Amino acid sequence: MDVRRTAVVKLAVSDEQRDALHRTADQYLYCANRTADYCWSDTSFTECKTNKRQVRDALYSALREETDLQAQLVQAAIKRAVEAVKGCVERWKKGQRVSCPTFTAETMDYDTRSATFYRNKVSLATVEGRVEPSFVLPADSPTPYEQYVLSEDYEFRESTLRYDPVDDEFYLHISTRRTDGDAEVPADTGHPDQTVLGIDLGVNSLAVSSTGTFWQGDDYDHWCREFEKRRREMQQRGTQAAHNAVLRLGKREEAWRKQYIHTVANELISEAVEHNCDVIAFEDLTDIRERLPHAKWHHVWAFRRLFEYVSYKAPEKGVTVEQVEPNHTSQRCSRTDCGFTHPDNRRGEHFECQKCGYEVNADYNGAKNIGLRYARKRIHRLRSSPKSGDRDAEVNLRVNGGTLNGKSHQPIAGD
Ligand SMILES: [Zn+2]
Repeated sequence: MDVRRTAVVKLAVSDEQRDALHRTADQYLYCANRTADYCWSDTSFTECKTNKRQVRDALYSALREETDLQAQLVQAAIKRAVEAVKGCVERWKKGQRVSCPTFTAETMDYDTRSATFYRNKVSLATVEGRVEPSFVLPADSPTPYEQYVLSEDYEFRESTLRYDPVDDEFYLHISTRRTDGDAEVPADTGHPDQTVLGIDLGVNSLAVSSTGTFWQGDDYDHWCREFEKRRREMQQRGTQAAHNAVLRLGKREEAWRKQYIHTVANELISEAVEHNCDVIAFEDLTDIRERLPHAKWHHVWAFRRLFEYVSYKAPEKGVTVEQVEPNHTSQRCSRTDCGFTHPDNRRGEHFECQKCGYEVNADYNGAKNIGLRYARKRIHRLRSSPKSGDRDAEVNLRVNGGTLNGKSHQPIAGD
């Protein structure tokens, strides 16, 4: 199973480093916007350029000449712009209103060639050479950073530097993937008219996808508990200064939690894009408090935020977001030839079908059911459509090739 971790780390930047990062971001945005202009055509989506290699060949040398950016940053800016244009073209094809993407947020993508990680600092390529801001790490050990970025069990994937204009700080979002036991992605069957990624939001894991990726959120839980502990300590002092400190702490915590959920949202969208999914299906969250009485408030908050962010950002990548009725998705057997539904099927994190014996991680079972429910609903709608072409359309669910307990199961098509 594929386990990803994200560490969001605040950078302690000096005034010179700050200037260097802002100037780098300006030039990065210049590259991204110039690339988007080059790729875009208002006439027709067939005129838009979306071949990354061709665009890079056409623009790379010129952008290197025009800017002081390091090679990899120029390439990253081109890549980001081409992907955005591609997302717009997808929406255009579906008849939605689109216009040439523009980039204004100071956000830069770094990889192992443009960023080097040390225990307490990172070295980042900028237009003024390398800068090495140190991390603002919480006092406790191990921090999420130490656990996932420096750990040998996790492989560094990429990081995104974001400037937050509200609190005037730079944050590094570092993405890692566990190196052992990565499951193979099943081959694309090539015919589906729509492919769905199902997402289960739960108590055991923050989010689980039908492709078998887990966002466990235990680092999220850990830091929420730490903030809570600090808050209680301050409140006990009861002074005005302590009261003000509690308010400041609350602001910091909220900013931190938003950053965290933002990163998970981006990863969920990447998961959909990497698996060629057109749709991300969530369960309806309206009655989530009633359905998950044991969920902590910060989880319920996280679910709502996560859904909001994904809904807001997925369309940029040509992915739509849908919700399905949540009834019994956790108690139902996700095997398409079974579907037996019973409360006894689920025991905590473990799912075992009382009828066919299918055993699997309970959240993963839920993610598959959510995806399947969307697929069935859509097929039903298409079958009753007046257009004959729509009636043959296929809706598939993207799943993982294996299960947590190692037993294989039948790949699921949209029924
Ligand atoms: Zn079953």
